[in-house]
Amino acid sequence: MTRIWPGVIEHFKEFLPISYKTPIITLYEGNTPIVKAENLEYKIEKEYGIKLNIYLKYEGANPTGSFKDRGMTVAISKAKEENSKIIICASTGNTSASAAAYAAKANMRCVVLIPYGAIALGKLSQAVMHGAEVFAIKGNFDDALKLAKEISQKYPIKLVNSLNPYRIEGQKTASFEIIEQLGFIPDYQFMPVGNAGNITAYWRGYKEFVNLPKETKIKKFKVEDNKLPKMMGFQAKGAAPIVLGKPIKNPKTIATAIRIGNPASWKGALQAKDESKGVIDTVSDREILQAYYTLSSLEGLFIEPASAASIAGIIKYLKIGYFKKFKSSKYIPKIVAILTGHGLKDPDCAIDTSKKYVKIKKIPPEIKTIIKELKL
Ligand SMILES: *Cc1c(COP(=O)(O)O)cnc(C)c1O
Repeated sequence: MTRIWPGVIEHFKEFLPISYKTPIITLYEGNTPIVKAENLEYKIEKEYGIKLNIYLKYEGANPTGSFKDRGMTVAISKAKEENSKIIICASTGNTSASAAAYAAKANMRCVVLIPYGAIALGKLSQAVMHGAEVFAIKGNFDDALKLAKEISQKYPIKLVNSLNPYRIEGQKTASFEIIEQLGFIPDYQFMPVGNAGNITAYWRGYKEFVNLPKETKIKKFKVEDNKLPKMMGFQAKGAAPIVLGKPIKNPKTIATAIRIGNPASWKGALQAKDESKGVIDTVSDREILQAYYTLSSLEGLFIEPASAASIAGIIKYLKIGYFKKFKSSKYIPKIVAILTGHGLKDPDCAIDTSKKYVKIKKIPPEIKTIIKELKL
């Protein structure tokens, strides 16, 4: 349909479980910007005396405003191929926004289970406007997921949470895309971890790339690298079951997209960490909110709080001296930070957070007052 960017299925078809029989349901997701964080790098060099190359993968630029679209296009296309009429998901918000949009495009019914009162305004508005049938559960995300799973096992309703293997398959395209855009494989990847589907998908994508025949790598990607990145995953301190090594009953964090107490892809996250010699660690809500404002104000990319965990992770690891070996070396490490979702998803949190940094001044309608305030 479009000659410019055909969506992730068409562009990465040979790496996906797609056949000529699969009807492709796409909103032309993927091909999101990758932006060099020059202002953040400068601030880091000034404060820590360390040079880093930081690349921001802005997944908020996907059609529904988060990376979930990469997996959803594949999950919904396969559901359509299998003749499903109804899909269901539990969601902290972005999965439901994405599922609702792709279900609308595919002429399917979409059932959404959300934790009552714990979902950001933007995400909920998307689900309802795309015509989903939304149920607010008196419980948390983990309770909602359990229900969705059971319903999908007992009734002809397809589960499109990341337990659906096609979600992970679609999401792994982001690794290929990063390599294609940068022309190399990064040394480190910093990202938030919630249900852990995304870190699982990225790691699978990087490993598949490295194992491609040399000719394919060069022909399609013009990249010969075969060194895997270290996967650096960050959970919120109040919702860090993987770091603690046990599920959490009542996960707490301002970053609702990663407020998850019993991640479905727990094993995948551990595997990514172990095989890549990376880490799964925590960042506090305070660190998240600070990074949230720092990134948005320095780089012009508006992100949601969960996405700021990537940046908070980089700052935390600078503080604990993780990068200090690069202080005296000529090599500047290449870091990709995944910015998973758009800032407009959670305007309440943005307004609250900004109050710490900016005051909106009420003034009379006079030029002289404005100029005075500007201290020109
Ligand atoms: C879903 C989501 C996450 C967490 O991804 P998982 O695959 O659940 O680990 C992080 N950030 C945003 C914005 C999300 O929508």
